[in-house]
Amino acid sequence: MAYPKTLLEAIAFFNDEQVCIDAVAAMKWPDGEPRCAHCHARNPYYLATQKRWKCRKCKKQFSVKVGTIFEDSPISLQKWLPAMWLLCNCKNGISSWEIHRALGVTQKTAWFMLQRIRLALQRDNKHKLGGSGGGPVEIDETYVGGNRKNMHASRRLKLQRGMKDEAGKAIVMGMLDRDLRQVRAKVIPNAKREVLQDEIIGEIEKGSTVYTDGYSSYDDLARQQYIHETVNHVEEYVRGEVHTQGIENFWSLLKRGLKGTYVAVEPFHLDRYVTEQIFRYNNRATKDNPLNDSDRFLIALSQVAGKRLTYAELTGKVPQRPEVS
Ligand SMILES: [Zn+2]
Repeated sequence: MAYPKTLLEAIAFFNDEQVCIDAVAAMKWPDGEPRCAHCHARNPYYLATQKRWKCRKCKKQFSVKVGTIFEDSPISLQKWLPAMWLLCNCKNGISSWEIHRALGVTQKTAWFMLQRIRLALQRDNKHKLGGSGGGPVEIDETYVGGNRKNMHASRRLKLQRGMKDEAGKAIVMGMLDRDLRQVRAKVIPNAKREVLQDEIIGEIEKGSTVYTDGYSSYDDLARQQYIHETVNHVEEYVRGEVHTQGIENFWSLLKRGLKGTYVAVEPFHLDRYVTEQIFRYNNRATKDNPLNDSDRFLIALSQVAGKRLTYAELTGKVPQRPEVS
């Protein structure tokens, strides 16, 4: 199937329900063999008029949406897929108001759709960053404030960490593997040594070279078997290769999206916006890997299965269930 290359082509292409179903089915069952959503039996009938499958064994019916982020949604795939295209490819993200106007769904529905799509953008990382033969890893944290004044002040605040009350600001910790050109980042409860160190040990191979600023919470990394170099932001900005400008560029992108597109994000949802920005950053076009909009969309679509999120889970009313495979 020849995939669309531009947003206009994508909207025209996904204007047909069967095309959408085929696109999702191809990702859900990469071997081309649909399986029953209830009992996993092979070779179900396809009921073309109802656009559903019927299991030969348990006789139950199921749509392509079952077991994906689209499950239980009354919104058609003709709207879901363009929304996904937009979120994957708009540099600063896209707001629920824009989706509401572009696709003719309510703003509340659009918000819910975007949150579910962000879930698909999340990757389960199987490998650690760095490694003895790998590149250096830049590590940093940033403070995301509840208002514009705080955001602009975040850099100054960082230099005074621990010296003043940081209440009300969410802290995001990030790591950038320079060889892989991949970022990992998440919201952390505080910037104490144990928290930062646990994240580093969980994500970066021991023996890796790591670059941080001079914040005291990073003091112990040499003892944790990392080759640790620090940047002193007050006196020198760059010492050869030793800098954290890569991860700081990522913070700029994140904050531009948060400030421009999303305006106010509750800390509870901040992790999902971070995930979204990581997806676009890690799948951006580079010289070695010239990904385009269509590629980014297909990568996201390949991640829709095995993930779903209900409104109650999104709004924190019930705990999130473990993902099914
Ligand atoms: Zn069955």
